Amino acid sequence: MTQTQEPVRETSAPAVAPGRLYIGGGWRDAVAGRRRDVINPANGTRITTVAEGDAADINAAVIAARVAFDEGPWPRLSARERGDVLLKIAATLQEHREELAQLESIDTGKPITFARMVDLGDTVDHFTYYGGLAGTVEGATRSIRRPGFAYTLREPIGVVGAISPFNFPLILSTSKIAPALAAGNTVVHKPAEDTPLTALRLAELLTEAGLPDGVLNVVTGGGAAGAALAEHPGVDKIAFTGSTATGAKVATAAAARVTPTTMELGGKSAQIIFADADVARAIEAAVGGFVFNTGQFCMGGTRLLVHRDLYDTVLGALAEAATHVPVGDPRQESTVVGPMAGPHHLENVERYIALGEGRVVAGGHRLDIDGGYYYAPTVLADVADDARVVQEEIFGPVLTVQRFDTEDEAVAMANGTPYGLAAGLHTNDVARAHRVAAKLRAGIVWVNSWAVLDAALPFGGYGRSGHGRENGPEGLDEYLQTKSVYLPTD
Ligand code: NAD
Repeated sequence: MTQTQEPVRETSAPAVAPGRLYIGGGWRDAVAGRRRDVINPANGTRITTVAEGDAADINAAVIAARVAFDEGPWPRLSARERGDVLLKIAATLQEHREELAQLESIDTGKPITFARMVDLGDTVDHFTYYGGLAGTVEGATRSIRRPGFAYTLREPIGVVGAISPFNFPLILSTSKIAPALAAGNTVVHKPAEDTPLTALRLAELLTEAGLPDGVLNVVTGGGAAGAALAEHPGVDKIAFTGSTATGAKVATAAAARVTPTTMELGGKSAQIIFADADVARAIEAAVGGFVFNTGQFCMGGTRLLVHRDLYDTVLGALAEAATHVPVGDPRQESTVVGPMAGPHHLENVERYIALGEGRVVAGGHRLDIDGGYYYAPTVLADVADDARVVQEEIFGPVLTVQRFDTEDEAVAMANGTPYGLAAGLHTNDVARAHRVAAKLRAGIVWVNSWAVLDAALPFGGYGRSGHGRENGPEGLDEYLQTKSVYLPTD
């Protein structure tokens, strides 16, 4: 994934055409002519290459998006007409669902079963949901203190710069692109450097479905391209998903021009198992919560807090379950855990485990499978509240387990990191479920479940996990601004 030209093995999977930049409805090479290898994380082989865009390419894409916004048909369509196009996009993506799932799986290493079900399910749903919601964008009449007619208009913001991470390339780009388009904006998308393939195919399919030229532009490239987008004066709104550290840089660049931002950042989410919980159900949620997407999941439930009475039972069951999760080739339908997305992600997990914090009760090592970047699902018991493995986002298949005695203690521990993306609790006491849900400082709380997401359900962060919301009507509001109009009648 670097640009060094060391020889790499070619992948044995079906050929993927070399990627170019998608700007103004057409393909072009990067101005500087540079390219980047795209590597299959399941075996370290090269899938293809894509253009490596930089500031000059971002500038060209912003100009194309600007022209499409200022002069093109898209913002001038009625909201319901835009909704029709989004529904057509949903139908087109549905037709290409298997092709996109295969591409997403080979690029990220995620198991094909989940790529089909989760990634493509959510991606299609973003366009279905916002296609339906588009026609609900409307202003209001207001009663004011002087004679006249006062009303509001809801308008698009302009050119949206969308920057997405490597772990859910389609989901986390379309959670921005679908509402941004529904609201009438135009978009420049900078996908993650490690996983750029579906973003390019998506742009082509959206055009086929009827999106006018220049409304969606895609510039592949690394952090330099992302930074150029964040600081570009022609961008009216930045929608970013990624790490808190990068988010802070993007927010700083945007703030210099008073550009509004949505920040979907890192997490270190806790699941609490109370003494009255359905233990089998809680363990299933706990395992899924940290191995899903090989732990490369912003909402991973990576801190498990267990009531003292259940601690040993839960720990034993977790160690057993984690050891038997099917890890291996993402192309196999039975695979639950694939490789990590790249060698640097794997090395990062190794650095955390090497700290020696806590007691390893499962995993704690790489897995040697076909030259891929595999790490065994890992459970660390008896960790301290202030341990780095408890406080910092590891972004791999690693779960820490801690014990508590009282409800207040559990809530304090769950809220005890700078993050606040998600939280969960397992209990059969209804009053406790609502009481604790209200006290948890997180953008989403799951009771007796984990990671249930839906295009209609807003998500986003408290604290260092970011600001703004994606999904739901709230996700559409992020791409609209309000104009008030007054007309005297006296
Ligand atoms: P990252 O921050 O390294 O990169 C995210 C994107 O930012 C990439 O496209 C990258 O090229 C770009 N980028 C890098 N430097 C930049 C800069 N200076 N200016 C502008 N853009 C720049 O994140 P990642 O490793 O791709 O993704 C993992 C992180 O994303 C984790 O922290 C995870 O929790 C977070 N995440 C959050 C959510 C959420 O909804 N809150 C969802 C998924 C992932």
